[in-house]
Amino acid sequence: MKLFVPRERRPGETRVAATPETVKKLVKERLEVAVERGAGRSAFFADADYESAGATLLDESAADAAWGDADLVATVTAPPADRARRMKAGSVLVGLLAPHAEDELVRALADRRVGALAMELVPRISRAQSMDALSSQASIAGYKAVLLAAYRLPRYFPLLMTAAGTVPPAKVVVMGAGVAGLQAIATAKRLGAQVEVSDVREAVKEQVESLGGKFIELPMEESGEGAGGYAREMGEDFLRRQREIVAGRLAAADAVITTALVPGKPAPKLVTREMVAGMKPGSVIVDLAVEQGGNCELSRAGEEVDEGGVLVLGPRNLPAEMPHDASLLYARNVLALVRPLLVEGRIELDLEDEVVAGALLTHDGTVRHAPTAERLGMAAPAPAEPAAGGGAGSVEPAPAGAGEAEPAPAGEAGSP
Ligand code: NAD
Repeated sequence: MKLFVPRERRPGETRVAATPETVKKLVKERLEVAVERGAGRSAFFADADYESAGATLLDESAADAAWGDADLVATVTAPPADRARRMKAGSVLVGLLAPHAEDELVRALADRRVGALAMELVPRISRAQSMDALSSQASIAGYKAVLLAAYRLPRYFPLLMTAAGTVPPAKVVVMGAGVAGLQAIATAKRLGAQVEVSDVREAVKEQVESLGGKFIELPMEESGEGAGGYAREMGEDFLRRQREIVAGRLAAADAVITTALVPGKPAPKLVTREMVAGMKPGSVIVDLAVEQGGNCELSRAGEEVDEGGVLVLGPRNLPAEMPHDASLLYARNVLALVRPLLVEGRIELDLEDEVVAGALLTHDGTVRHAPTAERLGMAAPAPAEPAAGGGAGSVEPAPAGAGEAEPAPAGEAGSP
């Protein structure tokens, strides 16, 4: 069975989906691993190390052909739809496929009858923690956001007692204490800052306090807990009161890290223009929710905004700014997802397995992820399909070139 790992081509993407460590393990599972030359370069994994781990290196033209030859392709981000169109029927794609945004890709994957496993759809259950790329990458974003704030702040983070007198510690406010927020709290504490935290889920309070942060109490008339351990969308009345309470903390803060999200909704607006105007010149806001619309009214994706001396940063892809460890962890997430699917040299997609069923975006010509299917006007199949014979989801390694020229199923998955 052939695994292909391409070089990522999105501007600014520096990560890679397999490392020499994971390649070695996959070769032990009897996979033939091909890695595009230079795939690990910007994450500081050398071609020679992939080769020593047992991979074959492909130059660009061979890599182009490998899309059509591989039984399994592992990427970090959604590949261009034209690459997916080269994949053979029954092959499997694994990556952060951005199903909410990549309509053309999703249609192409369904047309080509590719089994696409979207890393962001892996259910967040205990058994799947080692596969949880959202967490591994969000944690890096939280860490890096604090380093960015510390780097741009015209002050120290820690309390310092020097011969020239005492310097007070920086005050940091973290909004949203999910995976990224908790790592931001831990990092800011390690750097010696005082940290205050706002979240709408009561369960978070204990975690915040165990990291040494101070939880900002909010007037919770209703629980902020939504389904699956995530937050619920709060009404505008609540958000207004939350902003009133937090505004005073922001006025005293040196750095603010915002990470607040509600699944499937635009990011809640927690920091208004007036709140920024009330902050000290020289203070820094890092808005990690910027690509979901932003927690701060002034943040712009990929830009820096200076508002009366307050710096508002809207970084787009912070994990890509720490590509070595981001790749190391992401590649382990991919390995943890893929390894249990390998059965005697084949990849088997057991549709009754909760993790596979949750992560499968497309399979056998259909879009299985209901919200995506609905958005694209395609019918999603019933959640659990009984396995037929050897397993309905079993993917045999097709002979080389098989499926290469197979026509897309006409009028089926590709049509709205
Ligand atoms: P997320 O990115 O969806 O949201 C980030 C945070 O923003 C959350 O803590 C949320 O409560 C908070 N938020 C929403 N609205 C807010 C508001 N108005 N004000 C302040 N904060 C607000 O969350 P996430 O990082 O993906 O994680 C959420 C939870 O998912 C975790 O705490 C955990 O319970 C669960 N989880 C479970 C697993 C697992 O079991 N494998 C793995 C990761 C996360």
